[in-house]
Amino acid sequence: MAILVTMQCFRCNLEQDTSEFNLNDLSQDCKTCRDITKRCSKCRIRKKCFEFNVDIMGQYGLQSRCKACKKNSRKKYAKQTSGTKHCTKCKIEKEFSEYNTNKDHRDGSTSYCKECAINIKRLNRSVH
Ligand SMILES: [Zn+2]
Ligand SMILES: [Zn+2]
Ligand SMILES: [Zn+2]
Repeated sequence: MAILVTMQCFRCNLEQDTSEFNLNDLSQDCKTCRDITKRCSKCRIRKKCFEFNVDIMGQYGLQSRCKACKKNSRKKYAKQTSGTKHCTKCKIEKEFSEYNTNKDHRDGSTSYCKECAINIKRLNRSVH
């Protein structure tokens, strides 16, 4: 009698024969699950599930963005120090050093320049 060894796939939660798993790389998801492809919400490229980080709330238990896009987005949120951007207030293109830091912003600095920030403050003061 052959001993039937089963393993539970962490993705589909099905108890399956170990032959359904790729044991060489100690993966815990079955072959069927490994073949699932998912389209990244960011780059729109269909990728194998292992290209995504795990998110139990997501589709197939995966995050909507692939690992590569995750990496890229993290880079984008770092404060930009070189280059210029347009001030949304005075519409003048200025160096990033001319802007205050705002971590909530995509490029790490406020949408209007330091000069405009001072003007806005002054305006608020005169109103009150
Ligand atoms: Zn599975
Ligand atoms: Zn992607
Ligand atoms: Zn400005």
